Amino acid sequence: MMIEHFFQCPYCWEEISMLLDPSLEKTAYVEDCEICCNPIHLVYGFEDQNLTHFEALDPEGDF
Ligand SMILES: [Zn+2]
Repeated sequence: MMIEHFFQCPYCWEEISMLLDPSLEKTAYVEDCEICCNPIHLVYGFEDQNLTHFEALDPEGDF
C-alpha cells in the first residue's frame, strides 16, 4: 500500500503529492514535478510504516 504525501516543489513552490512506499526503510530517487516537470530529488524513510524522514531537493543541490 502506498502513502500519499503532500509537499512543496523546490522549483515552482506549488503543493504537489507523491505516492511513497512505506515498506522502504530508506530510499532516494528522482521524480518529475507534475506541475513544472522539473526533476525533484526525493529522499525518504519509514519506520514501522510511519514517515520519519522526507526531503524534496533540487538535484543540482544549489539553494
Ligand atoms: Zn514544480
